[in-house]
Amino acid sequence: MRKPIIAGNWKMYKTINEAIDLANGLKREFFKLDFAKVDAVLCPAFTALSEVAEVLNETDIGLGAQDVYWQDEGAFTGEVSPAMLKDAGCQYVIIGHSERRQFFGETNEAVNKKIKASLKHGLAPIICVGENLQERESNQTFKVIQDHVQGSLSGISADDLAKTVIAYEPVWAIGTGKTATPEQAQEVHKYIRDLLANLYNQEVADSIRIQYGGSVKPENITELIGKPDVDGALVGGASLKVDSFSVIVMRASEVVK
Ligand code: PEP
Repeated sequence: MRKPIIAGNWKMYKTINEAIDLANGLKREFFKLDFAKVDAVLCPAFTALSEVAEVLNETDIGLGAQDVYWQDEGAFTGEVSPAMLKDAGCQYVIIGHSERRQFFGETNEAVNKKIKASLKHGLAPIICVGENLQERESNQTFKVIQDHVQGSLSGISADDLAKTVIAYEPVWAIGTGKTATPEQAQEVHKYIRDLLANLYNQEVADSIRIQYGGSVKPENITELIGKPDVDGALVGGASLKVDSFSVIVMRASEVVK
């Protein structure tokens, strides 16, 4: 049985004080959450990681960054290493988000290096894959997913794969209010799991958690997570408010499959 994982991607929102307030609000709400039934992860901007880590100290709420560089250290102005993220208190890191692929030219090769470096330092990568609208409309979805999955995971062992989370995020559903239907999500999640079974083995494919991301809200989480291969959500907009994110996590913890 795969335990659902809900991660909040705060993107480039929240000053340090605002991030502390949001984390404190969620901590209060999650007091009644059964963490045996769901994992909850907060992914603030780099600037707020340490302070949010302090708020989350001695709770079961996880902390993740939104990106990472693959070198341990060096003259790489503006970049942040996996060791620095560990030092700030992270257990997770989002890698290859479509906004990074789209606006910052991130390639599968870069994603692959970032995943390997993160694993080396004990960070669990949340690896994002997903097609854009034009690709979906021209029936390229599976081809794009295969390219993202295979390219991102090149040279990664089954043991290491088991430490990762995959996030299927159709780009056309991110921040648009348009959610993939539970059936559309399930179809691609199943495709990813079958692909992993082919590339690795059935055991690791069955163990890996595949999140859905794209306009997840309290109103649609239950139906999405109810699908057999949907093991959680990566949440953007709705993760920025205590009310919406806490309800999403709570509802995910209540879904019985
Ligand atoms: C995201 O940022 O990964 C995301 C899914 O955003 P939203 O929930 O706002 O669509």
